Amino acid sequence: MPKAIVIGAGIAGIAASLRLKAQGFEVEVHEANPYTGGKLHAISQDGYRFDLGPSLFTMPQFVEELFALFGEDIATHFEYIQKEVICNYFWSDGTTFSAKSDKQEYIEELCTTFGESPKKVTAFLNRNKKKYELTAPLFLENSLHKIHTYLNTNTLKSIAQLYKLHIFQSLDKTAKAYFKNTKTVQLVNRYATYNGSNPYKTPGIMSLIPHLEQYYGTFFPKGGMHRISQSLYELGLRQNISYHLNSKVNSILTEKGRAVGIELENGEHRKADLVICNMDVFPTYKQLLATHKAPEKTLAQERSSSALIFYWGIEKSFPNLDLHNIFFSDDYQNEFEYLFDKKSICDDPTVYVNISSKDNPEDAPKNCENWFVMINAPAHYNQDWNALVQKTRVNILRKLSKILNTDIEALIATEYVLEPSGIEKNTSSYRGALYGAASNDTMAAFLRHPNFNKKIKNLYHCGGSVHPGGGIPLCMLSAKIVSDLVQHDFNTQ
Ligand code: FAD
Repeated sequence: MPKAIVIGAGIAGIAASLRLKAQGFEVEVHEANPYTGGKLHAISQDGYRFDLGPSLFTMPQFVEELFALFGEDIATHFEYIQKEVICNYFWSDGTTFSAKSDKQEYIEELCTTFGESPKKVTAFLNRNKKKYELTAPLFLENSLHKIHTYLNTNTLKSIAQLYKLHIFQSLDKTAKAYFKNTKTVQLVNRYATYNGSNPYKTPGIMSLIPHLEQYYGTFFPKGGMHRISQSLYELGLRQNISYHLNSKVNSILTEKGRAVGIELENGEHRKADLVICNMDVFPTYKQLLATHKAPEKTLAQERSSSALIFYWGIEKSFPNLDLHNIFFSDDYQNEFEYLFDKKSICDDPTVYVNISSKDNPEDAPKNCENWFVMINAPAHYNQDWNALVQKTRVNILRKLSKILNTDIEALIATEYVLEPSGIEKNTSSYRGALYGAASNDTMAAFLRHPNFNKKIKNLYHCGGSVHPGGGIPLCMLSAKIVSDLVQHDFNTQ
């Protein structure tokens, strides 16, 4: 039986390990942390449970596919519900908007609240659908770096219609072409943050992101987001994948231009027929492939934004809040100038409050809520995080207390904080970026590192820092692309 080694048990590493196992490989996974899941991890503190990383679950079919590979009934191990409310939005002038998953309701309420034209909203949603259909086969589901991707008719059709994608104008400009109210534009611009980018620079093609929420829906796993990584890890255990925790990889071993195994921190060598690396591609080159030439242009790409998160146990329940809630900044452009130009945090950042106890009541004591309070933060450039955290905590509390008309600080029963340097430390993500490189220019998608190594045979790359990008769905797709490449290279099932 051929053997595969996977470095890292983030969601992409776990997905890749399962796919390779289904192809008939013996699979060994080495994870530096004492737990699997990477950013998809959780903690419990003083009676509250908090998902540490992702909070928004879209495209559950990618999780389903992995259970289906082994003929397992997903419902026995992983359950999820579809949300009727996608997100509640709040502004400091008292405006509120509840985005519904029902398309008609969404259009009607958007038009009533913001005075937009139903015709324009419908045209916008339809264009987003078209963008997704044209790009998914080309940009998301295949390697951008293999000639066979470009030789199929679907891809050629997509290329012929590239002008429909708004690639050469910003997301902000695209939104302004459809909407007149600055709040509607802000709603659209927010989607740039789903891959850690700047809406005033990222191309208008990014408006396909709201399509994923609006058309395919948003979901919540029973037991919390952590069940996504945990249930897949448990599936791997049932399939005899051997996961080695506290097992940090020091280098990738190569012979005659081929990957032949890994060296662990304790000096042990483990041999394999192929290696899949789920570690962020920047430290992969700088640490695990230190003697090899690195693709410097790819590695020099601007990093995506990171996050500052306060995990608060709140001794009260708020009926006007749902699972996802956004409290918008009054000056969105200023917020992004701080993030990407000044590498700092403005005084009035947009605040995202996620409350999993709304759908999973066990996550907080009775009549209490577990708040995951996140703002976008710049990538880690050795800022004084202590000072920024203290200053921002005051600003966030002031903002939430004002809009919710309640003294929030007085309700905090327990607190845990994570900032960009902590995210980097926990997962080796370069500069704590949540999504690898930012997509702040038109060519960013083409500059992402491919899912195979151009210089070293039998070495593959998956995860949020490589093609097609960050976020759970794209990380899962990166594992699928790797598995397709391996199948082709090794002639397996
Ligand atoms: P990671 O999760 O980064 O895992 C990499 C793993 O590799 C880690 O476990 C690490 O310990 C291990 N590793 C690294 N180096 C070594 C080594 N040398 N040896 C052994 N092991 C090693 N996505 C969404 O879809 N929805 C969201 O709502 C969302 N919100 C987010 C909020 C936050 C606060 C964060 C942090 C992320 C969020 N994301 C969200 C992004 C999403 O979490 C990531 O894109 C995704 O989880 C990344 O998975 P990955 O497989 O690339 O790797």
